Amino acid sequence: MSIPKIVVVGSSNTDMVIKMDRLPGPGETIIGGDFIMAAGGKGANQAVAAARLGGDVTFVARVGVDMFGEQAKENFKNEGINTGFIVEGKESPSGVALIFVDQNGENSIAVASGANSKLSEKNVAAAESKIAAAGVVLLQLETPLDTVRYAARLASEKNVKVILNPAPARELDDELLWNVTLLTPNETEAELLTGVKVDDEQSAAQAAGVLRDKGVSTVIITMGAKGSLLVTDARAALIPTKEVVAVDTTGAGDAFNGALAYAVANGKPLEEAVRFANLAGALSAIRMGAQPSMPTFEELQQFDG
Ligand code: ADP
Repeated sequence: MSIPKIVVVGSSNTDMVIKMDRLPGPGETIIGGDFIMAAGGKGANQAVAAARLGGDVTFVARVGVDMFGEQAKENFKNEGINTGFIVEGKESPSGVALIFVDQNGENSIAVASGANSKLSEKNVAAAESKIAAAGVVLLQLETPLDTVRYAARLASEKNVKVILNPAPARELDDELLWNVTLLTPNETEAELLTGVKVDDEQSAAQAAGVLRDKGVSTVIITMGAKGSLLVTDARAALIPTKEVVAVDTTGAGDAFNGALAYAVANGKPLEEAVRFANLAGALSAIRMGAQPSMPTFEELQQFDG
């Protein structure tokens, strides 16, 4: 069996988290508790998710010439990710997210996208041969929309499947959607994209219908503990996830998308691929953090029981 090839084009951030009793108000200084620094960014999380499962992953991203960028690249190398298309640019610092978390788990986040906002069409074009040889190109929305649109068009021209995880939520144009093979919004993102309030199978099916009318052939709406609704030309099916006691759902969506890309690039039928991705999302939800919670293939098999 050949190893599934995945190209992820997306963001890399360093998350800096301070836990505290309550979130600070304007002008207020609070002495917090533990400080945790972790690699993050949706692109990076999804690249790590696919690589841990055994995918041959190339990550196209941009970092600054600084300590955070260096650490990020080192981390990707340790995960076995191809870092040959991670561009180091002097013009902006590496992306960082400053995250406050209070004792109820409520958070307040400020992101300085930095180098992520400079990821260009040229940076993606440099990886053209990798894209052409991939089974799946996996995209999110934490880098400029022009770059995402270009990556989708390039992959589509090469007949490579495009998975777009439209997160964080923002409006999308028809040209981009036209080049997407699989769109994977969560409930909030599906609502923003369609105007349909999504909270159960029926409303999810309605939202998926609106998206399919815009030219996306396959829509998968992830619905947390309810599982994922898969809608294709042929059918609509709610694919259940495993029942778990969630500890931290940060990164569940990223685990889902990385695993979906891995399974689709591996030639799995869609229903099976979604079931596999659900399992990855569920397993990541019972572990703390985003990247640390991404499962390996063996862990998923065991979890499946
Ligand atoms: P996001 O993290 O983007 O909001 P979801 O919460 O929909 O995305 O999670 C993505 C997928 O991960 C879900 O479709 C589901 O398969 C799985 N998942 C997430 N939370 C849970 C949970 N509490 N129990 C079981 N599976 C979960």
